[in-house]
Amino acid sequence: MTIKKICNYIYGMVLDFFYPPHCPICEKYIENRSEFLCIECSAKILAVEPLKIPKPLLKEIWRLTRYKEGTREILHDLKFNNSTKYLPAIKKILDKVIMSKPEILQLLKKIDVAVAVPLHTDREKERGYNQVELIFNEWLTNQNIAVEKLLLRTRATNHLYDKNADERKKELAGAFATVEGAEVKIKGKRILILDDIVTTGATMSECAEILKSSGASEIYGLALASDN
Ligand SMILES: [Zn+2]
Repeated sequence: MTIKKICNYIYGMVLDFFYPPHCPICEKYIENRSEFLCIECSAKILAVEPLKIPKPLLKEIWRLTRYKEGTREILHDLKFNNSTKYLPAIKKILDKVIMSKPEILQLLKKIDVAVAVPLHTDREKERGYNQVELIFNEWLTNQNIAVEKLLLRTRATNHLYDKNADERKKELAGAFATVEGAEVKIKGKRILILDDIVTTGATMSECAEILKSSGASEIYGLALASDN
């Protein structure tokens, strides 16, 4: 064992003693800090499925987990507490997807470029990051998918969670545009729109309209969680 390894080992023991690692979902103690989720939660968190929300411009919309089972706490922390402490747990979930869900590998094979639903500049500044990029960028780069900033939010929009489908559409109308010079990266490309949570698909649909009008050939959607 090298000195560095011994130091890390002792540091780990001290850390475990003062801050025993807990599963962010069920709060249960976890023996191996690097697992981030307990075995039970880890086994049941994935709910990989294509969503049955017909959106004419999107060929498929996939979700990886249900918003109700654990990812709610994790995403809430990332979005509203300005905290990235659960990011390793999210990465663990995404790695699990790659290892056990061939349907997502099939989806990724069809993609030329991925784009995160953008935040308004003010909100991104306030939060310090776009959580969708934090969730997906590294994971997709590791799968050899380019992630590009092709879209921007032209105005701040209100939260959508308390709005019905019509109100959502109204709230989002005209809220997105392409960034300067994005057209060449969009034209003829198969694009994957990324979001943290998908509910009615209104946000993805609005982004898809912009991408389609810039010449995207096929558009898909992928969300970490869906609440339906
Ligand atoms: Zn757990």
